[in-house]
Amino acid sequence: MSECKICSGDVQTVHFGESPIAGYRCADLQDSLSQPTIPLNFHFCPTCHFGFYTLLDEARPVLDRLYSNHFPTYHVTQEIENYHDSFIQKVKGLTEATAQPRILEIGCNSGHLLAKFAKNGFECRGIEPAKTFKDVWSELGIQVLNEYLTATNFDDVVQRIGKFDVVYFRHVLEHIEDPIQFTELAAKFLTPEGSLIIEVPSLELILERERYENVSYSHLNYFTAAAFQPIAAKLGLGLKEWSFVEMDGGALLLVLTRKASEPTKLPRTISFQHITEFKAGLDARRENVHAKLRRLGAKVNGFGAGAKGQHLIHLLNLEEFIANIYDDTIKLGEKYLPGTSIELKSSSAGVPPGALLNLAPSHIAQIRRRFESTHQLIDLI
Ligand SMILES: [Zn+2]
Repeated sequence: MSECKICSGDVQTVHFGESPIAGYRCADLQDSLSQPTIPLNFHFCPTCHFGFYTLLDEARPVLDRLYSNHFPTYHVTQEIENYHDSFIQKVKGLTEATAQPRILEIGCNSGHLLAKFAKNGFECRGIEPAKTFKDVWSELGIQVLNEYLTATNFDDVVQRIGKFDVVYFRHVLEHIEDPIQFTELAAKFLTPEGSLIIEVPSLELILERERYENVSYSHLNYFTAAAFQPIAAKLGLGLKEWSFVEMDGGALLLVLTRKASEPTKLPRTISFQHITEFKAGLDARRENVHAKLRRLGAKVNGFGAGAKGQHLIHLLNLEEFIANIYDDTIKLGEKYLPGTSIELKSSSAGVPPGALLNLAPSHIAQIRRRFESTHQLIDLI
């Protein structure tokens, strides 16, 4: 029996199906087919408006494999640059009283945004456990602690890097087994007047926009803005402000401080019925897509071998309909999507004509522009 990670209260559960963990690639068929399949038992707390999966032991080594080999899977498009600029403006607004504000990004990835903060007069530090970015950080001239942040090493880390006017993490908290403990550690880096900024996928928008590709076990937690009120209260913080932002299909941006009591606008709440309706919508989408693919009478190719495309393949049970998957980023030795026998092909020599499944839901518009005059493109989202 699971209890809510925030309030320890009773949860309600929906079963979304079963799926291997997505977001990496396998070199051979045996490795691919030996990847564990995880039951997607989604727990929802009606008191906290928060959803989560329980982290199962068989998933731990797979998640370690996924994160230790992490590469950025997105291109820094103009849209992302613009969003980074607006994020920096927001932080400037929070720190205008400080001459040279100190800022810490936890899970800073390649450090692209942190380097932009440095250019804007901030003193920057990053923490990032992935071992794949060291050269990028030195090229960008930013200081990053290349390790995990845990309760055990926290005192040592804070001694080495000090306290900060702003601590932020973006698209990190949804991956963390214990989000309360992680947020508590992050808040300990704050100066008394400091702000904690958190960006996570929005459960409200996933449900409202039927973004099925965001249902995945590597996202262990699903937050609403309302969920951050009990989280903040538990940590002696307040939810100062929150907003929806157009990142990654729809995200939440939250500011927590020691002084805030009430947010500037009250968060909307969701109920268990929203989750069951979403599940019914997923089942209907699966039926529709299968009917469409059966009418074609032959297997189709797909475009997009990223994590979100993999989620769609599993949630919509598409493996039997797919011949090969093409992508621009296939590296040597990457031949299969985990848990499937679908072969990966580089798109550098072109993509064969005919029907093509759009498996890159974060780049729907670009994929449409690229293939609509040459292929019969089939959207899933
Ligand atoms: Zn709860």
